[in-house]
Amino acid sequence: MKLAMVGFGQAGGKILDKFLEYDRRNGSDIVRAALAVNTAKADLVGLENVPEENRVLIGQSRVKGHGVGADNELGSEVAEEDIDELVAAMDDVPAHEVDAFLIIAGLGGGSGSGGGPVLARHLKRIYTEPVYALGILPSADEGGIYTLNAARSFETYVRECDHLLVFDNDAWRRSGESVQAGYDGINEEIVTRFGLLFGAGEVERGGEVAESVVDSSEIINTLAGGGVSTVGYASETIERQDAGLLSRLRGNGASDDLDAAKTTNRITSLVRKAALGRLTLPCEIEGTERALLVLSGPSHYLNRKGIERGRKWLEEQTGSMEVRGGDYPIRDADFVAAVVLLAGVTNVPRIKELQRVAIETRENIEEIRAGSDANLQELIADEEDELEPLF
Ligand code: GDP
Repeated sequence: MKLAMVGFGQAGGKILDKFLEYDRRNGSDIVRAALAVNTAKADLVGLENVPEENRVLIGQSRVKGHGVGADNELGSEVAEEDIDELVAAMDDVPAHEVDAFLIIAGLGGGSGSGGGPVLARHLKRIYTEPVYALGILPSADEGGIYTLNAARSFETYVRECDHLLVFDNDAWRRSGESVQAGYDGINEEIVTRFGLLFGAGEVERGGEVAESVVDSSEIINTLAGGGVSTVGYASETIERQDAGLLSRLRGNGASDDLDAAKTTNRITSLVRKAALGRLTLPCEIEGTERALLVLSGPSHYLNRKGIERGRKWLEEQTGSMEVRGGDYPIRDADFVAAVVLLAGVTNVPRIKELQRVAIETRENIEEIRAGSDANLQELIADEEDELEPLF
């Protein structure tokens, strides 16, 4: 699938940067256009792979390149004020060459959290291609204001985009790591999952011919109808040398059957691991509206029977009648991987918890504000109110 990607804000920019690196490393050619947008100049300067001319600084008249300081309402305002510049920056995107737009942003911050949905709304008006977002939820220990930002931004993104794919930092943080090292690892996990998913619509990679290819229209159909998605992933390293060679050397039907059975079993077990393991957004998979299963690896490690079984199993687990499946062969891969896109998930306790903390935070903020006004008055007024200000 060919995407026009917009990295909005710091997290969005860094993940976009990583996607470009992934694309180059794997020759997957997913990112047809890349735009990094920010209100903070320093964050744009820090990018490595996004071309200079594709970095857009907005809100200069308001925040002078210093960012919006996790104020996502301000993030929305400056994006709206500078929307012409943003839309003009997208003019160079060859819309006929892209299948969809993808806006990437951290929902807990200010620029991407508030500005991304504004851009989505305008892109949807202008282009016929779907506009998706990849929203990153803050981890719980980041504090109330990030959670409040994320809860409000989440709601806005779902309304303004054609689909919101979610990645939850909270489910992926590891203790004992510096924040930056932690993000590097997490960003790698993000591009691995979404890279394989979006790469699936591109059959050319490695020149392999897929047995039952996943087309970009199948990704689009799975994401159709709006809502929220989560992605599961599992992979197994394979001993490349033995595989094809051994079965060819043996050359008899019995061992071929054995290999086929092994391949099928490997695939079904990977599908289970992917769907029941750690999802990008933890949730109950039962009740998922639509799903897409992508199996990736060298073509002789993929077979229709395995994918069909995996697909059926997913149907049973999710109760969905719309489970698509196919393969994405990569000739030189040393792994077999299953990616499961669960679209239209609604049983997500993590979001309910996020909203609960957000409401609590807002109440606390209001209480503290009201209290601090009274406290300040008490401090500056003398006891008998005998003193008066100068003017
Ligand atoms: P903005 O620049 O104002 O849009 O704000 P940020 O992009 O810094 O958003 C802040 C949130 O994004 C934080 O609360 C983190 O949860 C998350 N975040 C920041 N940097 C990264 C990163 O490199 N990777 C990931 N996964 N999340 C990040």
